[in-house]
Amino acid sequence: MPFSSFGLSPALLLAVADKAYSRPTPVQLAALPAALQGRDVLASAQTGSGKTVAFALPLLQRLEQLAPGTPRLLRALVLVPTRELAAQVGEEIRSLGAHLSPPLKVSIVFGGVSINPQMLRLRGGTDIMVATPGRLIDLLEHNALTLANVAMLVLDEADRLFDLGFAEELSRILALLPAQRQNLFFSATFPPAVQTLAQTLLRDPVRVTVGPEPETAPDIVQRAIEVDVGRRTQLLLHLIKQNHWSRVLVFVATKHAAEMVADKLRKGRINAEPFHGNLSQGKRTQVLADFKASRLKVVIATDVAARGLDIAQLPVVVNYDLPRSALDYTHRIGRTGRAGERGIAVSFVSAESAAHLRLIEKSHGLSLLREQVAGFEPTPSDPATELGVDTSGNGGIKGRRPSKKDKLRAAAVAIQTRR
Ligand code: AMP
Repeated sequence: MPFSSFGLSPALLLAVADKAYSRPTPVQLAALPAALQGRDVLASAQTGSGKTVAFALPLLQRLEQLAPGTPRLLRALVLVPTRELAAQVGEEIRSLGAHLSPPLKVSIVFGGVSINPQMLRLRGGTDIMVATPGRLIDLLEHNALTLANVAMLVLDEADRLFDLGFAEELSRILALLPAQRQNLFFSATFPPAVQTLAQTLLRDPVRVTVGPEPETAPDIVQRAIEVDVGRRTQLLLHLIKQNHWSRVLVFVATKHAAEMVADKLRKGRINAEPFHGNLSQGKRTQVLADFKASRLKVVIATDVAARGLDIAQLPVVVNYDLPRSALDYTHRIGRTGRAGERGIAVSFVSAESAAHLRLIEKSHGLSLLREQVAGFEPTPSDPATELGVDTSGNGGIKGRRPSKKDKLRAAAVAIQTRR
């Protein structure tokens, strides 16, 4: 079923053609007809499924149909959990609306940057706003906009909005919206808070569940390479050079590790930058733009970057430190293998993190082959680590530092095994 069969306007079809989207993804196929008819939609869809297009086209089509000369009022509000997602979703809506005449104004607002320029840009109104909840509330408190004319609401990554603690902001915003409106609700998972919100928010929604279908399931090769904690940076350098990896997103556990690994890679003449929450918004935007434009080869990120980011043609993700949870593992490796491309996800595993990787594998029903790279073989583990005691002190994985008692127990085992 081609895009032309949805009854989209010529300007929108042209934009879809510009993007070379030849056919709709499953979530678009399922959500577009209902959303274009003005129905509420409740979609269970992951980032990477094409969900942005699934809600962006209906917003744009409806606003395009307004009589020309209608005043510029905020009619479509998209709430997203993170700054990066706001920028990404806003840009996608702008590009899909590029051929509309008269043009629609799409405002992107998020926190972490000065509010004044955002307020200035809102003068004269806006048609569509993509916002993080906290900054939207700030803007409302400054009387920079009104929600009284919002006719379409999108909640994108609703589960993540709750994960990040936006429940209170959400209810404040929802209370300010007109009752009569269309709601498009997208979430990857449906924990109780998200289900309750969906039940209270949506009216007779069309439910869309897009499982990973064989033809669209991400084509990600998952690998686990055994290496000592202290040799991971050298191994990373080696793998990047030996495999000629063009672009790599590396996940670490701490901001400090992000800085340190990026620094060491630069010393190894690899163009690398850290990406974490302590950087200014300007720097983060710059790093992402450079990475997307291939001016930067490696980004070393904390989990700030794990969700929502859409970097086309990202062939490799490396878990330098394992993620804390099995869910984070999915989000991290989901940065590669997007929209039908192939990807590789490499996890470094040391004696200290071996048990944690087994837990992740168990919860995903995975069984990854443990590989070793010549020249980087791990030293045989000592009994303390076999006990599952984290002696690395790297803070990279779930676990605890060994207590005095742990150390004594480990020493006792070591003595016994030597006998
Ligand atoms: P999303 O799930 O919205 O984050 O989208 C993931 C990626 O899929 C983005 O890079 C989109 O540009 C891309 N995409 C969206 N719709 C299509 C389509 N119909 N065909 C190919 N790629 C698409």
